[in-house]
Amino acid sequence: MVSNDSPLRETPPSLERDGFMLARLDDVLQAARSDSLWFMTFGLACCAVEMMHAAMARYDLDRFGIIPRSSPRHSDLMIVAGTLTNKMAPAIRKVYDQMPEPRYVISMGSCANGGGYYHYSYSVVRGCDRIVPVDVYVPGCPPTAEALLYGILQLQSRIQRRQVFSR
Ligand code: SF4
Repeated sequence: MVSNDSPLRETPPSLERDGFMLARLDDVLQAARSDSLWFMTFGLACCAVEMMHAAMARYDLDRFGIIPRSSPRHSDLMIVAGTLTNKMAPAIRKVYDQMPEPRYVISMGSCANGGGYYHYSYSVVRGCDRIVPVDVYVPGCPPTAEALLYGILQLQSRIQRRQVFSR
């Protein structure tokens, strides 16, 4: 039993006073994962221009720790931006398989979400979720850079709610 004068009864340790602090491992993991989403750009068509816009100076994704990468082995987020054709589908799956776990996918725009304008085309995949598992869908044709940013923030809050160690 802990007595009233035990140090365990004291206020929690603070960095300024004690030189260390305590945190739940889940909180640390969630912060590390959600605030360092390095994204593999998969710009397939016109939506990719809005994705580039989101990464440029006006919305500046870097300030959220969201940085574009050109290698799937460095990436934990794939943004599928544009029309996915049948011919491209094996390539997107191959890139996705090369990404390390945990990995996330955002489907950006009507074409990636469900085929969009080209839904009845013989050459277009009716939704990239037929090829890779999608975490967040961003609607629009094209979605604005703000919409993509909102989708990424939704993914971040979803990651922050995910418990790995505690139940
Ligand atoms: S959703 Fe619209 S803007 Fe995006 S790739 Fe398709 S046609 Fe282009």
